[in-house]
Amino acid sequence: TFKAMVIEKTESGTKAALADFDEANLMDGDVTVRVEYSTVNYKDGLAITGKAPVVRRFPMIAGVDFAGTVEASSHPKWKAGDKVILNGWGLGETHLGAYAEKARVKGDWLVRLPAGISTRDAMAIGTAGYTAMLCVMALEKHGLTPASGPIAVTGAAGGVGSVAVAILSKLGFSVSATTGRPEQADYLKSLGASEIVERAALAGTPKPLAKERWAGGIDSVGSTTLANLLSMIRYGGAVAACGLAGGMDLPASVAPFILRGVCLLGIDSVMCPLPKREEAWKRLETDLDRQKLAAMTREIGLSELPEVAAAIVAGQVRGRVVVKIG
Ligand code: NAP
Repeated sequence: TFKAMVIEKTESGTKAALADFDEANLMDGDVTVRVEYSTVNYKDGLAITGKAPVVRRFPMIAGVDFAGTVEASSHPKWKAGDKVILNGWGLGETHLGAYAEKARVKGDWLVRLPAGISTRDAMAIGTAGYTAMLCVMALEKHGLTPASGPIAVTGAAGGVGSVAVAILSKLGFSVSATTGRPEQADYLKSLGASEIVERAALAGTPKPLAKERWAGGIDSVGSTTLANLLSMIRYGGAVAACGLAGGMDLPASVAPFILRGVCLLGIDSVMCPLPKREEAWKRLETDLDRQKLAAMTREIGLSELPEVAAAIVAGQVRGRVVVKIG
């Protein structure tokens, strides 16, 4: 047996607690991984607190991503000793997840750990950081460059936001960090933000079109924040939308799309095809300053998960949290 953060169904909802888990009860898969690090993403917070129905099977081991070392494999691509990363694919939702010393998964889900990234740094990046990279790649594919103009990052002090600010600034973009925590201004500037914008500037009922302000945006908040952001994007610009920390609705008008040619780019990390994942992890190796990553990351153990899960759904976690397993 090994220690795991297990979610059980109860009469009133779900309950998460550290428990001994029997290796024989791991689900089918062709690769067994010794998990070294995991992390706390917003979705992990939802799963552990039970605030949203993320978990689809019980009992579930929570945790949507991990980095570790292959222990056994019958998959042709992987052998014992290989260092691997897994993000999403239903881990912690439909397949037993990452907050445990061992995971048995499909070899097709794994990405090889880039040589220049440690397993700890891979989880300091985590699904939040890999998603931030997918957002940057989508804006680039749209044709945006630093010469296009400034980029707004919403929820900037959160996980996706912090990594997005750091990557964009390293690539030479001028970044406006929008946050509900103005006390994090110095932190955001240290990550490379050139301007801090109060969350309130993107709150309330949006006008169909507002003053053109940004060439692009990366949004992890959704709802009125995303609707306001769209109304402020310059002609021909784009917003990469990946999150719902402020709500799942989108009370927007079509005006930015049909009058300014603005594009809304949807970003999903969970079912994202392997080649794009590999490209994102390769980019993270070069385009994310490792000192900035260290500055935005703190480490916890499995026992601290419930507390951090509650904090992340309350919007109180700054940057990234890695979970040391074992
Ligand atoms: P996080 O660390 O909690 O960051 C979210 C940030 O959003 C908070 O730090 C806060 O930033 C802001 N925020 C929170 N509540 C808000 C509210 N009510 N109104 C306005 N802003 C609010 O979470 P994360 O792990 O970075 O994830 C961010 C979002 O992206 C989540 O919704 C998550 O589910 C989503 N996500 C999606 C994918 C995908 O595949 N599409 C992958 C990863 C994450 P400030 O304090 O700076 O305002």
